[in-house]
Amino acid sequence: MNKIVPPGQVIGILGGGQLGRMAALAAAPLGYHCHIFTPEPDSPASQVTGSATVAAYDDEVALARFAKSVDVITYEFENIPLKTAEFLAARKPLRPAATVLAISQHRGREKAFAVTNKIPVAPYRLVTNRAELDVAVAEIGFPAVLKTCRFGYDGKGQAMLRATSDLGDAWAALATDDAILEGFVAFKKEISVIVARGLDGDIRPYPVVENQHVDHILDTTTVPAAVSNVTAEAARLIAITLAEALDLVGLLAVEMFVLPNGEVLMNEIAPRPHNSGHWTQDGAVTCQFEQLVRAVTGQPLGLPDLLRPMVMQNLIGEAVEQWPAILAEPGAKLHLYGKTESRPGRKMGHVNRARSK
Ligand code: AMP
Repeated sequence: MNKIVPPGQVIGILGGGQLGRMAALAAAPLGYHCHIFTPEPDSPASQVTGSATVAAYDDEVALARFAKSVDVITYEFENIPLKTAEFLAARKPLRPAATVLAISQHRGREKAFAVTNKIPVAPYRLVTNRAELDVAVAEIGFPAVLKTCRFGYDGKGQAMLRATSDLGDAWAALATDDAILEGFVAFKKEISVIVARGLDGDIRPYPVVENQHVDHILDTTTVPAAVSNVTAEAARLIAITLAEALDLVGLLAVEMFVLPNGEVLMNEIAPRPHNSGHWTQDGAVTCQFEQLVRAVTGQPLGLPDLLRPMVMQNLIGEAVEQWPAILAEPGAKLHLYGKTESRPGRKMGHVNRARSK
């Protein structure tokens, strides 16, 4: 289904979070309508669109009606049930495709896909029971990181293993039979690259950015990353290789580790706009959300070029209360997500600032 979707038509977005909200806001100036499908009433995304369906992801009556009312479908988070994605893809173009979702929602498949495409990753073993964990630890060694293969985000569903005595509690806490053990990477930096790929195969990587996490949650993104040209080129090549191997139409965010010797390992991928790309709203020729809209509608991609060095700061939990000072700060660009309830660890908004160098 190589259909081009012209302005005036409707983009269906699965998921009602801030990424869907900012995608819908970017779709409007290009003349597109957005229809949000989310189980959440009054979601950040549905607040800014004319139409929303509030229903469960397995409600096939609601899904069929949604598919009828839109011209192309994309998603703003990768934990959409695969069955839902396939149901919709049989009715309307789903971009990126369900096959991309299948890989990116499972850490084991993601790593295997990277290895198949000759992309370096940390040593890993798949683990389905406690006995396999013992074998995997014997092979990988300490320290290591144990993660659930599915539904992990912001450090949830993972545990650091430093000694044999950690295994019992870590395995019990994960409560899964689908896990992955990774060797701990003593990285120098965490970086990411977002790459867009159009319906015609045109491919445009954004500049490499540097990410700082606090309590496993992204805190700041700085662009451009302070890495050598060789490292930046390796990172961009990894993102491009993955996007092409996935036959991606849309955006792919690739999180990577930089080793002390400058080599780059892939950590994980997300086939959607990404928190580490929010700086593009105020610092790139084409922001990641507009780029997503262009890609999934089959329009030409925009330039991903950097306009000025930037830093993006997430507003997490009660940090959102800083909004009056941010609004009063010359040049600071505030983006709030319309979430009424602030909880510790919850992403409430972000602020983009130009930096001097
Ligand atoms: P993830 O959910 O895989 O993105 O992991 C969240 C964060 O945990 C990463 O951004 C890293 O800071 C850290 N982390 C994850 N995997 C590893 C690893 N194998 N070695 C070292 N740190 C890791």
